[in-house]
Amino acid sequence: MSRHSVTLIPGDGVGPEICDATVRVIEATGVKFDWDVQQAGENVMAEFGTPLPEHVLSSIRRNKVALKGPITTPIGTGFRSVNVALRLELDLFACLRPVKAYPGARNLRDDLDLIFVRENSEDIYTGVEFEEGSPDCLHLIDELSTLSGKKIRTDSGLSIKPISIFGTQRIVRYSLEYARRYGRRKVTLVHKANIMKHTDGLFLRVGREVAKDYPDIEFEDRIVDNMSMQLVLRPQEQDVMVLPNLYGDILSDLGAGMIGGLGLAPGANIGADVSVFEATHGSAPKYAGKNKVNPMAVMLSGVLMLRHLEEGEAADQLEGAIAAVIKSGRAVTYDMKVDRNDPDAVGTSQVADAIVDHMGAGA
Ligand code: NAD
Repeated sequence: MSRHSVTLIPGDGVGPEICDATVRVIEATGVKFDWDVQQAGENVMAEFGTPLPEHVLSSIRRNKVALKGPITTPIGTGFRSVNVALRLELDLFACLRPVKAYPGARNLRDDLDLIFVRENSEDIYTGVEFEEGSPDCLHLIDELSTLSGKKIRTDSGLSIKPISIFGTQRIVRYSLEYARRYGRRKVTLVHKANIMKHTDGLFLRVGREVAKDYPDIEFEDRIVDNMSMQLVLRPQEQDVMVLPNLYGDILSDLGAGMIGGLGLAPGANIGADVSVFEATHGSAPKYAGKNKVNPMAVMLSGVLMLRHLEEGEAADQLEGAIAAVIKSGRAVTYDMKVDRNDPDAVGTSQVADAIVDHMGAGA
């Protein structure tokens, strides 16, 4: 059996304990790993002068796969999010966020099985912004007013929204390839092209062109406001959705809410060569070190990682054990209980124990 070398970034806050629980359940599948443990975040600032040292990036580039815990972005210390920096440095252009209901969780419906593919590198997240009142902002407002013939109030701030042909082609192609690889029926492109003709309009036009190469996959589009309503009323009609960065961010959190919350929402950041698997949620600092939070979102990110590594059988085994523990309702954390103070809720490591036990029982 081959071994996999994977970079493991425990992160901070609740990161180390949920990653620890995740490594235990992944190893219980029998697949062999060489974990290359790397630290990033505020804790390494003093030693390396940066929260994201070059050797961490080199480790991920070398191993091509990383499993990552959340990393806190301190307010007021000046460095930008390590999580965002990592995605930009490694050009992890696709953010994959499955929304799958496991019976026993607090689901909107028990048959939900959706995939959000969020574009991760463009849109208003590129950070091209101009502060209200600054000389650059006033200059730009003046230029834009002249060029467009439209009035922009001089006390406005500006955030720029670039969406390129290149970025659109690769994210829409990724979503269609994903659909093909995992036997999905349909891809729906989400946009607001009726209002933003040159950004969302481009996204839609280029997306339709790319889809012509995939006649085996149904391709349709929805305006984002309509999609928000449809997701609440008829979510079972959706399959794979591909979205620009901002809509992907918002609707995938809506999706997490439909399957019981952030404690169950896994994720993957995918690039051409390198992939980083991490939960959607953050470092939940108030629970750090308390053996309290739900490790299942990172564990399910581990399931995605196993599939990516073509360890499909191990992925099925781990996912099945997580599903069984959710269904039994016994060894689950506070966030999965109707009453958050339910005394029957267990801690992070007890969830891992129950999942390992279930796999050991060969069920
Ligand atoms: P958060 O996701 O950490 O917490 C939001 C709420 O969800 C809190 O009430 C928290 O207790 C709860 N929660 C989160 N994960 C949970 C889990 N596994 N089980 C049960 N409950 C859980 O979001 P936040 O408070 O906005 O951010 C905290 C820090 O995390 C910030 O510094 C933020 O920048 C960072 N962050 C990191 C990432 C990442 O590493 N990818 C993502 C989001 C936020």
